[in-house]
Amino acid sequence: MSGSDPLPKSVSRLKFSDTFTFSCHKDVKCFTECCRMLELALSPYDVLRLRKATGLSSGQLLGSHILMEQDPGEPFPRFYLTMVDDGRASCVFVTREGCSVYQHRPAACRAYPLARGASLGAGGTVQEHFALMREAHCQGFFEPVEQSVQQYSNEQQLPLYNRFNDAVAAILQHDSIRKGFIPSAKQIDLFVLALYNIDSFRDLLQNDRLDAVALTAADKNRLMDDEELLLFAINWLQQQLFTPF
Ligand code: SF4
Ligand code: SF4
Repeated sequence: MSGSDPLPKSVSRLKFSDTFTFSCHKDVKCFTECCRMLELALSPYDVLRLRKATGLSSGQLLGSHILMEQDPGEPFPRFYLTMVDDGRASCVFVTREGCSVYQHRPAACRAYPLARGASLGAGGTVQEHFALMREAHCQGFFEPVEQSVQQYSNEQQLPLYNRFNDAVAAILQHDSIRKGFIPSAKQIDLFVLALYNIDSFRDLLQNDRLDAVALTAADKNRLMDDEELLLFAINWLQQQLFTPF
């Protein structure tokens, strides 16, 4: 890290091919310590997976497990997983045995101790950035397992999550946003609906009640698939936000 690098000492930048030493498993002394006192931001794909894990609808998750916050000056709200009031601010899904939604856990949990950022260049090309967070309580750095960022990302099935997160980045990093676009209250409602309340979005779509959408029976059938639906919702939202009428 250079002297002018603004990152804290515990954080270092890594390239995709760089290696680091780390492993997490049930026998580490700190097991599940990182599942407490955290701000866990959720992407639309994280919510889609948590629906699968819990059997709850997106509306139920929004009502009981997700906090929505919008900072002044931000165009859109952000969504965070709820922590419970147990004196340790534990994640709503952590148990003594570990994560109760492990197969469907959010991307940030999979990536830890890495973090990935994506910036979109001209023509929608994605440039990835990686950072390693070396937190004092994490004993995983003392485990003798060396892997590259690429290997770790693949083991944690992050490319699947990245596909959807990069599609959403096309909205969050859209030129109009960079130029100061301020969405209307209705457009913010559409953002929440399309990205975070996919079950309600599907109901409207299947019942022909969405603006500017005419679907064939074959389209409707294809969009019963959750992942197809989310990609469709992202594209639809982009049009609703940025296409001049
Ligand atoms: S703090 Fe580190 S080693 Fe401990 S459970 Fe979390 S990720 Fe694993
Ligand atoms: S979702 Fe699972 S892995 Fe992520 S913080 Fe909660 S319990 Fe830990």
